[in-house]
Amino acid sequence: MQNDPLDVRCSACGHVAQFFEPFRFTCVIRHQEIPENAHSWGRVVVEELFPDHFSWTQPDSPKPNFLQSDEPGVGYRLNHEGMVWCKGCKRFEPATINWPEDAYWQWTVRGHHLVARNRAHAELILDFLQEKQRAPNRKPALRGIPTPLLTRRLQPEISAKLESALAAV
Ligand SMILES: [Zn+2]
Repeated sequence: MQNDPLDVRCSACGHVAQFFEPFRFTCVIRHQEIPENAHSWGRVVVEELFPDHFSWTQPDSPKPNFLQSDEPGVGYRLNHEGMVWCKGCKRFEPATINWPEDAYWQWTVRGHHLVARNRAHAELILDFLQEKQRAPNRKPALRGIPTPLLTRRLQPEISAKLESALAAV
């Protein structure tokens, strides 16, 4: 499971803010025993990270099923409801986000859209774009890069966009 926070654009001030999932999901085999205040959902252990704001309700699917924010189906919707922390506004509060629309790190080059989960992910993508000899098998975190952006023709343009965005914050 990817539990690192997402960077979103703060709806109030427009600066970069962090989105935290309200639950931590881990596989049951990682635990000697289920931690206190945790729930089990099939083979997944669910811990409530912000119990004052979010309590766990098991989705209707008996087996753990995780959905991306706009994916239809029954299961737990990731990147949707959670806590948002904005340093600019000094706010840490429950919020609903639309992912990837609210992503802070996103660019479009000639109609091809690139989204990074957070700053570290954007840096990873930039390093990959600029590698002289790219490894033929892309890590899972790099598979979302649209293929045209990897071409000799568009790579300099998208790299320049990432570089200037990263330098600005
Ligand atoms: Zn803000």
